[in-house]
Amino acid sequence: MYVRKRALDRLAAEKVLYERSPGGDISVCVIYPNIYRLAMANLGFQSVFHIFETDTLVAAERAFLPDADERADMRKRNERVVSFEEARALSEFEILAFSISFETDYLNVISMLRMAGIPTRRADRADGNWPLIIAGGSAVFLNPEPIADFIDLFLIGEGEEMIPEFLARYHQTRSTNDRAARLRELGTLEGAYLPDYFTPLYGDRGQLHSVEYCGPGQPTVSRRLIRDLNQFTTASLILTEESVFGDMYLVEASRGCQWGCRFCAAGFMYRPIRYRSPEHLIEEAQRGLTERSVIGLVGAEMASVPGVAEVAESIADAGGRLSPSSLKADCISPQLAAALARNGNHSVTVAPEAGSERMRKVINKNLSEDEILEAAEMMVGTGVENLKLYFMVGLPEEREHDVREIAHLTGKILARARAQKKSVGHVTVSLNPFVPKPWTPFQWDPMEDPRATKSKIAMLRGELSKLGAVELDAESPREAYFQTLVSRGDRRVGAILERLDAAGCEGAGEIWHELKRIAREGAASGLPNPDSYVTRHYADDETLPWDFIDHHLHKWFLLSERKKAHYEHQTPPCDVTRCVVCGAC
Ligand code: SF4
Repeated sequence: MYVRKRALDRLAAEKVLYERSPGGDISVCVIYPNIYRLAMANLGFQSVFHIFETDTLVAAERAFLPDADERADMRKRNERVVSFEEARALSEFEILAFSISFETDYLNVISMLRMAGIPTRRADRADGNWPLIIAGGSAVFLNPEPIADFIDLFLIGEGEEMIPEFLARYHQTRSTNDRAARLRELGTLEGAYLPDYFTPLYGDRGQLHSVEYCGPGQPTVSRRLIRDLNQFTTASLILTEESVFGDMYLVEASRGCQWGCRFCAAGFMYRPIRYRSPEHLIEEAQRGLTERSVIGLVGAEMASVPGVAEVAESIADAGGRLSPSSLKADCISPQLAAALARNGNHSVTVAPEAGSERMRKVINKNLSEDEILEAAEMMVGTGVENLKLYFMVGLPEEREHDVREIAHLTGKILARARAQKKSVGHVTVSLNPFVPKPWTPFQWDPMEDPRATKSKIAMLRGELSKLGAVELDAESPREAYFQTLVSRGDRRVGAILERLDAAGCEGAGEIWHELKRIAREGAASGLPNPDSYVTRHYADDETLPWDFIDHHLHKWFLLSERKKAHYEHQTPPCDVTRCVVCGAC
């Protein structure tokens, strides 16, 4: 009972910033496969729910993964997961729409279907009157294959235009009781991926060999993209203090990134770079300031957003402050630094990503040590007290010296900051194990053995502790291992996810131990060895599980970027007015 009470308290604490639609007769439950406080911090989820809810054809509700204590209670009472607004059984909806931003939530998709009493595998739903189960979101358009056996239809790409088109087409096909015929019709929508049309074939050595296609037209799915971001506003729509960004009003400033860092999925999958205009951002920020004093600017890299200093100034002039997601050090202008430091902004995130000049060339960071130090000096000089520095460890081509350089660079930043201002507050080093992502030049590279990453983190912990006033916040290599498995996995990884769900694995530790058990059992487990997806180098000419998606990116371009990484050659940032090299423009 307290589970429902908590949902009602949460609903009462929410402030909805748009006119709710009275609703049509297609019932849709939009599901975020993680807990409420993370879901409500996710702009993608909020936007998708808004698109469904304001469509006149639809009556939409939300559902979330119950919190850990709720899950325990529900298990005890044998209760099912229900919708957030009206506590309806998920099986009563016509459509369940998963919005998935992170691949690690694929496990929760399976768990939620099970907790809703719905057969998890698509094949087991073919005969019953089950909801149509669809999925979209950034994880899905990188690589949907690990959950391809559980979802009826994927929508690949950006949803602003695709979801209304999907709903209109669904409405037309609704009169038919023939589920397969309806799916076939929906599958003709640009961006729709029907996994039933694609059958992966595996070679003698267990690797994906090819994919057999039995649908109409070409065996590819063209990912959707909107050309002009200014036509759509992506900003907070429902505010709640409980969200992990509860004190902020979030505004999306850009999609994609011009810099082309070779590890970064967002920089490649959302190509070409698109920005919202400064006027649009200022207008949205001013609207946000009536609700919250902090405006969170969301996107891959915020210092190169055109007009960002004016946006920051307009927010500071109105008494608020801007919190940008991440800043490229050499793009921080004095005007931006000064505006950020006003009205009590004491903390800024800078992402050198790698400690050595050599590694920054490998990853195409286009950023020198001098530029990083000058930026740190300027930020502290204008009043910023705390710096958060993002680094990665275990990158392709990395040597031990490159890892030590993370500590050296941090020490130099600290020294410059202290020279500028005696009482520099806190420096936090955020260290993330490298996870190879589909659609990046490093998609063929393995994740480093987690034991090696662990010892690098331990070494850095020791080095950084000598500096004083530096805190190390390191992501677990075990967590990164699972992330790599679901990022690079093929359809057979779905069976591994089922096993994790059946074993009741929840945290990174439990998942890691079960994956190691699977590896030890070998062929007896009936499952592929997780290492074959995580620590294996994929061959240049191998069929990759996500190859059937057309991201309008040439594979040869990604390979040439990989080769340039080996030779430590950099590629200049995108010039969308002239360049056509990668295929995205
Ligand atoms: S075509 Fe050129 S400018 Fe356009 S996204 Fe590709 S590299 Fe960038």
